[in-house]
Amino acid sequence: MTTLQYARRVVPGAKIRLREIDAGADGGLTRDEGRARFAELNATLDAMQEELYAAGTHALLLILQGMDTAGKDGAIRNVMLNLNPQGCHVESFKVPTEEELAHDFLWRVHKVVPRKGMVGVFNRSHYEDVLVVRVHELVPEKVWRARYDQINHFERLLADTRTVIVKCFLHISKDEQKERLLAREQDVAKAWKLSAGDWRERERWDDYMAAYEDALNHCSTDYAPWYIIPANRKWYRDLAISEVLVETLRPYRDDWREALEKMSRARLAELAKFRAEQGGGSPTRAGAG
Ligand code: ADP
Repeated sequence: MTTLQYARRVVPGAKIRLREIDAGADGGLTRDEGRARFAELNATLDAMQEELYAAGTHALLLILQGMDTAGKDGAIRNVMLNLNPQGCHVESFKVPTEEELAHDFLWRVHKVVPRKGMVGVFNRSHYEDVLVVRVHELVPEKVWRARYDQINHFERLLADTRTVIVKCFLHISKDEQKERLLAREQDVAKAWKLSAGDWRERERWDDYMAAYEDALNHCSTDYAPWYIIPANRKWYRDLAISEVLVETLRPYRDDWREALEKMSRARLAELAKFRAEQGGGSPTRAGAG
């Protein structure tokens, strides 16, 4: 198992407690050092995405969860900055529609998982069905409790069919959330993000933390691990997510390169055959002599 410097993997079977995990961690780095390291990791991620895309043997699913203002949108913007937009899509999960509610809770999710070769990012996810749904008692306890196993089975299916799953919980402190909500109020350019509902939800902070702890503890598996991302510092959040992605994808690179080499050899053989059939040698490149 890869060692991570910045994020914390929730070990399957372990019982984490969020209040014991420092949301303000900086890894002993200054902001500038962190940004420089992030840039390096992002360049690696860019190269990895190209291989994932071209090899077409796996998909990557990045799930982002966190309280309001935890930085899901900012993380998506920064971590995906260098990626090829043709190979990515972002899905944002809102309050379910009438049609979505008339199906099982995974119906709307399964439809939009990334196909092979693609990076899919979930801004919120099926975890809302054991978070907001639990906190607001939108379904009976028996129903949401059964969902942990259902989620594990669903993610197992995705993993078995070569979807690499990375789940990140963006961990901010309650004080930091207050600062961010107030900052939005004071900045007309950012006030569009405000919602009175955010303050209402904040009153349920402890209930949300209990729901998050259960989701992280019940649904961190070897095939779909949860990572806790200290997110009070935005630069550290981006760094920690990039590290998790790079370290998760690294073991697949040899396979992807091998698949690409095989594809290249097959294409070159096809081309050689075509040329032989034409009865000529290879054409020279313009200006090459
Ligand atoms: P953002 O993700 O930027 O906060 P919105 O302000 O539109 O976007 O919030 C989406 C809302 O949808 C959140 O309050 C979230 O809790 C809610 N939501 C998402 N999935 C579900 C679900 N399955 N059941 C109930 N509410 C949900």
